[in-house]
Parts: sequence; C-alpha cells; structure tokens
Amino acid sequence: MSAPASECLFCKIVRKEIPAALVYEDDELLAFKDIFPQAPVHLLIIPKAHCEGLGDLTPEVAALSGRILQLSAQLARDHGVMTGGWRLLSNCGPDAGQTVFHLHFHLLGGKPLGGKLC
Ligand code: 5GP
Ligand code: ZN
Repeated sequence: MSAPASECLFCKIVRKEIPAALVYEDDELLAFKDIFPQAPVHLLIIPKAHCEGLGDLTPEVAALSGRILQLSAQLARDHGVMTGGWRLLSNCGPDAGQTVFHLHFHLLGGKPLGGKLC
C-alpha cells in the first residue's frame, strides 16, 4: 500500500523535510545516495513529481524517462563507474521488492554486480 504524496518518504526528501546526500538536482529530477548502499556507488534517481512506480506513470513523469536515462549515464560517468560497468534498475511492486512507492531508479556500480537478473 502506498503513502499519499504528503506522507511519501521521497516526496519529503524532494521538499527537503528529510535530509539526503544529494548528488544532482534540477527542476524535475533529484538524485541522492541510497541510505543503505548495496555497492560502492548506489544512487537513487527520482522524478520530483510523485508517482508510485513504473506501473503508475503519469504523462508528466513518462515524459521525463529520456532525461532520467541521460542523467543516469552522466552520474555513472561522474561517479567513476562508466568504464567498469554499472546497472540501472527500478523495482516495481512487492514481488520485485519495492519498498518506497515513489518511482526511483537504482544506479549501482563500483564492484562486480553479478550476472543474474533474479
Ligand atoms: P526499493 O526497495 O523500493 O527498490 O528501494 C528503496 C531504496 O530506498 C532502498 O535501497 C533503501 O535503502 C532506500 N532508502 C530508504 N529510506 C531511505 C532514506 O531515508 N534515505 C535514502 N537516501 N534512501 C533510503
Ligand atoms: Zn512521493
């Protein structure tokens, strides 16, 4: 069950009500370090506008998908994992292990990530 936007953890980070280690911000997108990193580089990229996840894309957020991909490559470069390799993923729903119901993309890198998808 997802929280309303007013209670959503990542909306609170967008509104700066909860601190986060920001690595990128513009009018539409925010990126910050995951609080429980699973790799030396573990960033979260989110649209500032709330939607639950990939199954709930609003037209506004869908229009940002290209920018999210461009930003992920820029951040991979900036954080030194472009050459070694990196992964971008979004968990959607309970079977995928989604725990925060505000669309977010994990950017992971800095170690061998394994070849298995699940
Ligand atoms: P999910 O499990 O929904 O795909 O990913 C949610 C991610 O958010 C997890 O990797 C978790 O560590 C991260 N996370 C949860 N709470 C916070 C927080 O308060 N701050 C930050 N920076 N990351 C968080
Ligand atoms: Zn939200």
